[in-house]
Amino acid sequence: MAADFEGRLQETGKRLYQLIEGESPTLFQKQYWTGKVLDWCMRDDAFRVQMFRFIDVFPYLTQLETITRHLQEYFGRPELKLPSALQWGIRVGSSTSFTAKMVAKSFADNISSMAGQFILGSTPQEALAPLERLRSLGMGFTADLLGEAVVSESEAEAYFQRYLELFGVLHDVQDRWPALGESPTELDWGHSPKINVSVKASGMYSQMRACAFDHTVAMAKERLRPLFRKAVETGAFVNLDMEHHGLKNLTLSLYRSLLEEAEFHDYPHTGIALQCYRRDSEADLNELLQWARDRKIRFTVRLVKGAYWDSELIWAQQSNWPIPVFAHKHETDANFEKLARIILQHHEITRLACASHNLRALATVIEAAKDLQIPSEQIEFQVLYGMGEPIRNALRKAGLPVRVYAPIGDMLPGMAYLVRRLLENTANESFLRQKFAQGVAVEALLRNPLDLLREQPPPSEAPGTTPESGAKSPFQNEPLWDWTLAEHRERFSQALGRVRKSLPRMVSAFIAGKAVQTDRKIYSVNPNAPDEVVGLVAAADKSHVEQAIQAASAAFPGWRETGYRDRAEFLFAAAERARKMRYDLAALQVFEVGKAWSEADADVCEAIDFLEYYGREMLRLGQPRRMGQVPGELSHLLYEPKGVCVVIAPWNFPLAISMGMTSAAIAAGNTVVYKPASQSPVIGSMIYDLFEEVRLPPGVLNFLPGSGSEIGDVLVSHPEVALIAFTGSRETGLHIIELAAKTSRYARGIKHVIAEMGGKNAIIVDADADLDEAVIHILQSAFGYQGQKCSACSRLIVLEDNYDRLIERLRSAAESIDLGPVEDPKNFMGAVIEPAARDKILSYIAIGKEEGTILVQRDDSPDTSVSRPSSLVPRPSFFVPLTIFTDIRPEHRLAREEIFGPVLAIMKVKDFEEALAVANGTQYALTGAIFSRSPENIARARREFRVGNLYINRGCTGALVHRHPFGGFKMSGVGSKAGGPDYLLQFMVPRNIAENTLRRGFAPSSE
Ligand SMILES: Cc1cc2nc3c(=O)[nH]c(=O)nc-3n(C[C@H](O)[C@H](O)[C@H](O)COP(=O)(O)OP(=O)(O)OC[C@H]3O[C@@H](n4cnc5c(N)ncnc54)[C@H](O)[C@@H]3O)c2cc1C
Repeated sequence: MAADFEGRLQETGKRLYQLIEGESPTLFQKQYWTGKVLDWCMRDDAFRVQMFRFIDVFPYLTQLETITRHLQEYFGRPELKLPSALQWGIRVGSSTSFTAKMVAKSFADNISSMAGQFILGSTPQEALAPLERLRSLGMGFTADLLGEAVVSESEAEAYFQRYLELFGVLHDVQDRWPALGESPTELDWGHSPKINVSVKASGMYSQMRACAFDHTVAMAKERLRPLFRKAVETGAFVNLDMEHHGLKNLTLSLYRSLLEEAEFHDYPHTGIALQCYRRDSEADLNELLQWARDRKIRFTVRLVKGAYWDSELIWAQQSNWPIPVFAHKHETDANFEKLARIILQHHEITRLACASHNLRALATVIEAAKDLQIPSEQIEFQVLYGMGEPIRNALRKAGLPVRVYAPIGDMLPGMAYLVRRLLENTANESFLRQKFAQGVAVEALLRNPLDLLREQPPPSEAPGTTPESGAKSPFQNEPLWDWTLAEHRERFSQALGRVRKSLPRMVSAFIAGKAVQTDRKIYSVNPNAPDEVVGLVAAADKSHVEQAIQAASAAFPGWRETGYRDRAEFLFAAAERARKMRYDLAALQVFEVGKAWSEADADVCEAIDFLEYYGREMLRLGQPRRMGQVPGELSHLLYEPKGVCVVIAPWNFPLAISMGMTSAAIAAGNTVVYKPASQSPVIGSMIYDLFEEVRLPPGVLNFLPGSGSEIGDVLVSHPEVALIAFTGSRETGLHIIELAAKTSRYARGIKHVIAEMGGKNAIIVDADADLDEAVIHILQSAFGYQGQKCSACSRLIVLEDNYDRLIERLRSAAESIDLGPVEDPKNFMGAVIEPAARDKILSYIAIGKEEGTILVQRDDSPDTSVSRPSSLVPRPSFFVPLTIFTDIRPEHRLAREEIFGPVLAIMKVKDFEEALAVANGTQYALTGAIFSRSPENIARARREFRVGNLYINRGCTGALVHRHPFGGFKMSGVGSKAGGPDYLLQFMVPRNIAENTLRRGFAPSSE
């Protein structure tokens, strides 16, 4: 039966093949510019990258001069081979020359006509003629509105309104269209609405956050519901497209939850796309089918292979998540065939929209449908506009119902779509490329993917598994939770409940392994609900400082003599322990320092990273290194710990930074007196607990919570202290450096200070920057964790050519984000840490009002009633308004002084030169970022934007251990970068030991 099926499939495939013989898609016809360019892209990968990047930036280039400049920057490099058709003019001199402008004009025309091959028109009215042409050729359509990434509610609303308009335009004219397929009814082929519309969930709500899953679904439904309603009213079909991994589960839930509503429950003309390149697509399909069966719902599955393969791979690898897509094309192909059959087998509840240009896939579906005797109305074939026209013609000639996916929209939002299509057509694995550009034989094109899989078996396990603790494996960053998975959301909610029940926590100091109670206490409160006490924590005084330093001194010789491998093992064991407690450690941060879910999770992951990284670093550095290879001499360089290290930590990364400084000191063989910030002592105590649980010897780590003003100076100036690792404000940092420099009579050495201090970080937005990306990253960098990160963006420097566009999008995006207590995952921004911080930030807002102009001030006071015990009198809230100022000049205080809160100062500049001068014009040099698609400006920023951490086309926060060693210079700090290869060296002294091994003219030969 199977062999027989395969035989029939091959015959059908060959029949379809004959129907396309002699035809070639416009895209691959080399007499046209697009054909030539694609041909060259397929021959030369370096050219392909430059070409697609140029196409991506092209819609932003509104003047011939800027087009010319970019052409020269992208293609003018001598090492890049250019086809002769493009050579002329690109490498000519000045971008203002007449020739250069001529070339730019012709390039612009060609790219516009390339886009026109995939996009029907910029408006529904403009698209009507091509849509009607498709219908006159006997094909239906599904209309899709291209949209920029929706960054604000006003953009989502505009997108939604455009869809309403689309329905209206199509509805007005549908009566004049004869039904397709000689239908006896008004429906195409007797069963299918003439109007068919495809929608992307991401366009329906601008604040999609997987951790706020239910909220996101509910909000997206608010816009999708009227569209579904419109579909019902106009008798149209509506389909939800499938996007990338981060939206997959949300889209499935959104679809199901809408169809469960009474008004849509019985409406048969809706569908959803499923991507066969996903490893979980079969499980998703089965779940959908079960759901539809249980609820008696009828729906259509548009079966696709998936359009985001390259990016899914990159995103998963960057996040260190399991790769959600198959690694081999044959796996996807085989899965497509399998899922198509499952859908056909369930034809009583679901229709199949087979969306592929691959003859083998099409032949499989045609034959499987015959095999299973599927009624003709249960199946249709879909192709993309502008791709593989011969395929759609062959399907038509074979008398099958064909629908064309028809994108409508402007060039600007259309470019992402266009680049996706170009990537698809030029990929090595693409069926269209193999058939039409490479002329692969029909037998090879129709090969059974299962046979190919047997010949080239895929890797048994999905790459991207959980990192291993300890020395056995190379360092990998701890993956953040993927909030699209219900398990993480549920377990985190449970952790919040569990941790809340444990509050207030009673926390002692620990000296020499013993708990120390004190009379005075630090009251640590929840910044989002100040009546909620998170902990009552011992407040150490000067006498405790003395005891702690004596304990650390006493423990030092033993710890120094402990082998470096054993010391590293303590760090690995603590990492393992922290991993097991991840949910609870992060939940505690929500309460004690007001971190939103993802921020809290990231802090815990970074703490684990430091343990794993510094453990491995110690293994690298611990082995004495042979210096020179001279006979008769053994010379070794080795590192030894310095002694007692005082760690003074901030509250804003309460676990990660504390853990970084503490674990580096411990791994290097120092003993530690660790003073957590007074605002986050309960989280600080977790560091002690983690090391205690892995049985770190007593006295190696001493935990000394207390007020900085009372014990800070005593700690720093103590003669037995060898080094101080500090992260915090510039003011305190400079004070520590001064104090430590005064060497006491009793001192045993010169103190070393590692100080990470503040920043006045800038993001530059170039004239050609991708604003879809820039706006999201600016918001995250400026307002993530309420702007309370030393890396946060507080200055935005925008080139005047992009100024108006950016300002408008940023304003509406900032007005769209949800504010309020961060326990609720929908809230992007909550309260600042304490009243003193609030007052300082408010005073800067007052200064900003004098210096500049308010663009956004979100003074909508959030609901702080969450979980506040009603018996208590509410304390004043720690919320401050998210504020953005424009018209700020470099000399203004807002442009120079660190605010450490959700305040962003925007400066308009004429050109990139001025942007760099303004960016570099402060006393700080911590982080910075640029958004630009000009290779020349990017290269220049690399050279001239002088900050410790420069980010290109991404935000300026979120450094990861090892991948982005972190730290600045100038007034931003002194010392080597945390999470980098030089960091541990600061905690050690280098020693050299040289032995003369020559005795009486004889030296061991083995040296
Ligand atoms: C009408 C229509 C609607 C569509 N809607 C969507 C949608 O909503 N969402 C969406 O994501 N896509 C959608 N697509 C695009 C679709 O997913 C495919 O990208 C495209 O059709 C190419 O697949 P193919 O079968 O035509 O060609 P083929 O050349 O046979 O297949 C190419 C596909 O194989 C897969 N692939 C390539 N290399 C590998 C590899 N190494 N390992 C595993 N798999 C690999 C990729 O999915 C790639 O797109 C749609 C396509 C059509 C025709």
